[in-house]
Amino acid sequence: MEKQKKVYFDYAATTPLDAEVLRKMMPYLKDKYGNPSSLHKFGREASAAIDEAREKVAKFLGCKPTEIIFTGSASESDNLAIRGLIKALKRKKRTGQTLHIITSSVEHKAVLETCKDLEKEEVRVTYLPVGPDGLINIDDLEAEITPETDLVSIMYANNEMGAVQPIKKIAKLIAKSNKFEEHLTYFHTDAVQAANWLGCNVNELGVDLLTLSAHKIYGPKGIGVLYAKERTPIYSLITGGDQEWNLRAGTENVAGIVGMGEAIDQIKNQKSMPTGRQAKIKSIEKLKDKMAADVLIKVPGSKLNGPDNPEDKLPNIVDFSFEGVEGEALVLSLDQEGIATSTGSACTSQALTPSHVLMAMGLSDLEAHSSLRVSLGKYTTEQEVNYFLKVLPEVVKKLRRISGR
Ligand code: PLP
Repeated sequence: MEKQKKVYFDYAATTPLDAEVLRKMMPYLKDKYGNPSSLHKFGREASAAIDEAREKVAKFLGCKPTEIIFTGSASESDNLAIRGLIKALKRKKRTGQTLHIITSSVEHKAVLETCKDLEKEEVRVTYLPVGPDGLINIDDLEAEITPETDLVSIMYANNEMGAVQPIKKIAKLIAKSNKFEEHLTYFHTDAVQAANWLGCNVNELGVDLLTLSAHKIYGPKGIGVLYAKERTPIYSLITGGDQEWNLRAGTENVAGIVGMGEAIDQIKNQKSMPTGRQAKIKSIEKLKDKMAADVLIKVPGSKLNGPDNPEDKLPNIVDFSFEGVEGEALVLSLDQEGIATSTGSACTSQALTPSHVLMAMGLSDLEAHSSLRVSLGKYTTEQEVNYFLKVLPEVVKKLRRISGR
């Protein structure tokens, strides 16, 4: 087979910008450059574009446009959800009262580091463990949640091994705990990795706060969304102008927001075409499953990390461990063959510490260091998967030879 030079298997790190999304953004990078806060025609044009994008996102999430806040990234949205809520509750409560957050040990760092930082400020944080499949146990949550719990932040789908957490069950549990008490426990979910694949209607999910990122759904980088249900106490982290309902000061990234609206619209529109979107998801899942099964056969000493049950995992992410192989060396060797993959998440791949997600799942240091994440997307082809399956066994063999294993 002819050597392919560019095979992208890192869609969970970021997705390519969709051509139609770029086309819709272009006028706002060129001729329609008005500041949305300006009263003149240029300003009104930009402001109308933001309104339209907001409506599209609201439709996708099944909420009101006034419940949508555009931010600069999903990391910022996670921060706004968690810090913003804690800040608002602190201002309401008597000083000296400790607040309580429950999260999981496999969250993205945007959530984990935020929670860790808040521990320095009279916030108690419970980090729920996960099983070997990466899933939290709902009984653990039930044991930890009290009427005094202020926030539960559990991600919808994991970015490293694709585990899908039981969001609806968590919401039900929180609703039960809220029922007889005045105190409200709020529920935030980071849905960044889920948006392409799973239902994100906030009422069906039962969440108060939800995070999205445009660059994971074929939109531009530097745009995030926070859904904040009406009456959820939340305070701005960036003070200044009154943009985004006074919750995020700064002139809006109009082109980025338009791109987010279009990227979301594409997911939504495709959903109504069963032979389009659902078939596409199935075909990507089939390619991913074929890849996983063939790797296990072709590469001795390989194993899969993450849930076994297809219903508990995303259709596009597969995470392997290869005995006696350094994940970083594997990524670099595959890169030389034109294949882009990653070890753990893109945000942790510069760090030499093993992935906190894999460690939380009970993998040994060595197993976690020998991990490889492969993530597929809407442009993935069978030919690319076959090329990977041809190259990988040789690369693993070569690396084992070099390290004398
Ligand atoms: N949350 C999850 C689950 C992610 O996968 C990522 C990106 O890797 C983020 C948050 C951060 O997204 P952003 O790059 O928009 O800050």
